[in-house]
Amino acid sequence: MSDRVVVALDVGGTGMKCALVRPDGVVVRTERHPTDAARGPAAVVGTILEVAGGLADKARADGLTPIAVGIAVPGVVDEARGVAVWSANVGFRDVPLRDLTVQRLGLPTALGHDVRVGGLAEARLGAGRGTGHVLFVAIGTGIAAAHVVDGTAAVGAHGAAGEIGHILVRPDGPRCGCGRPGCLEAVSSAAAIGRRYAELAGETADAPVTAAEVAERAAAGEQLAGQVWREAVEALADGLASGQALFDVATIVLGGGLAQAGDLLLTPLRAALHERMTFHREPQLVAAALGDEAGCLGAALLALDAVGVRDHQEKR
Ligand SMILES: [Zn+2]
Repeated sequence: MSDRVVVALDVGGTGMKCALVRPDGVVVRTERHPTDAARGPAAVVGTILEVAGGLADKARADGLTPIAVGIAVPGVVDEARGVAVWSANVGFRDVPLRDLTVQRLGLPTALGHDVRVGGLAEARLGAGRGTGHVLFVAIGTGIAAAHVVDGTAAVGAHGAAGEIGHILVRPDGPRCGCGRPGCLEAVSSAAAIGRRYAELAGETADAPVTAAEVAERAAAGEQLAGQVWREAVEALADGLASGQALFDVATIVLGGGLAQAGDLLLTPLRAALHERMTFHREPQLVAAALGDEAGCLGAALLALDAVGVRDHQEKR
């Protein structure tokens, strides 16, 4: 039975990361395709089905047996019904992607949320492996999280669990994209850090400074960058402390673009989180290990779970 594979797709606003993955978590083929979301949702769905079907055919041509399909998409995802409810990036609105895939490929299919399946992969195969209770926090343009317990990510009653970016951390803070002032992601997302620095430095919009550059300037001793970075780290520690109060995890895994700052982020954040722990046990705080493959691997895990195959934990 070692010839079985699942077809995995991680559909983002700009590109799709796709793979054939064995039940032990080993990737046997990868492909990348443009999403080209400007074509509209029907065309994007067409590409997803075409790419998934193509991968299944290539698997068969290589003597492998595709047993299931896993697809991760951003936005609001109803995993139980297999519906991409809403996604600004991809333009989806109530797309029954699971049923469409089953009809087209004739394979069991699971649909998941990109950050949730990324967390699933980090918890089972990556930086949180073997620790049981994991909070994966992806920090990029926004901030979202996945709470994974013993290899299963909580979805929530309405498919919206893990929206840690909208924890209120600064009631007088900047307005969030959701409309409310002071959300964590309005202060500590990579986008917010760049914005705050530009605002204080009075820089023009044609020379934006990224969060990574703010981190580097702060490390080099620039006062303004240091202030912006500290503010972001403090707010992030407040958000993570709330997460820890709720979930009592063993490990917090930080992913997304901001986590690439590495120790420039992890070292001050560990200290700030430590200060906030009273009776709660302090979680390990680590950087994600799977990079931008996490979503695709997570989609594969979801597909394997859908058909009741889970032998990667024993083998890796
Ligand atoms: Zn918000």
